[in-house]
Amino acid sequence: MTVLDRYARSLVLGEILSGLALTFRYMFKPKVTLNYPYEKGPISPRFRGEHALRRYPNGEERCIACKLCEAICPALAITIEAEPREDGSRRTTRYDIDMTKCIYCGLCEEACPVDAIVEGPNFEFATESREELFYNKEKLLQNGDRWEQEIAQKLTLDAPYR
Ligand code: SF4
Ligand code: SF4
Repeated sequence: MTVLDRYARSLVLGEILSGLALTFRYMFKPKVTLNYPYEKGPISPRFRGEHALRRYPNGEERCIACKLCEAICPALAITIEAEPREDGSRRTTRYDIDMTKCIYCGLCEEACPVDAIVEGPNFEFATESREELFYNKEKLLQNGDRWEQEIAQKLTLDAPYR
């Protein structure tokens, strides 16, 4: 670019005008960004998020304390204790997941014969301390109650491929 050209462009503010033109062009195009956290993108039915323990519609816990999830967990993140109830059914008395160890492999969910332990769609569970990521049975059941609708939908969508 010659010196004369440079002077001419700076005189008519060429760069500013072309920059503004570019801005205006993109103002009217569809947005590619999301206004997170108010808007969220779609999530696959196979998304492996925060864990939850599910119940049957009558409120009974699904988990039968078979410990398959504990056995298969490669991170040794699950701890289960169990004993029979008065009616003879076998249920957990303790179900802990150390979420700081979990690698979100999904093997616990795959191994569960009654779809009790699942990885739900929630990915917003950051905490301020490690202790908050030591989940117990109460917390996992709460997650199950909170996300049951979304979890049931994801399992239904994924069922033909399992
Ligand atoms: S997702 Fe994988 S690592 Fe995490 S608790 Fe389940 S089996 Fe263990
Ligand atoms: S969550 Fe499923 S795999 Fe784990 S102990 Fe309960 S029934 Fe067995």
